[in-house]
Amino acid sequence: MKKNLKLVKQVKMSLSVYILSLLMLSMFALNMGCKGSYIAGYSLDPDTTDHNSTIFSEITDSSGHMHWYVKLYDGEVWCYFHNRYEMVKRVRK
Ligand SMILES: [Zn+2]
Repeated sequence: MKKNLKLVKQVKMSLSVYILSLLMLSMFALNMGCKGSYIAGYSLDPDTTDHNSTIFSEITDSSGHMHWYVKLYDGEVWCYFHNRYEMVKRVRK
């Protein structure tokens, strides 16, 4: 019985260590992700926008033209594809 209890304690210990390391790992990954988007957000050079399209919302308008918006709301929104402010009005389908 005593040996069993010790084993259970050991298993519990290793389990908590395992969970803790998992937590640390996910926190580390989250941190890395934040840093990645931070860097990406600062490389908004008009010449490099081609390579950063993943951080934009790619919107295709009714006439088939593509636009890139970081935030989408009704009103004037900066389009990173055309490098200008554009009037955006969301239409519900
Ligand atoms: Zn546009």
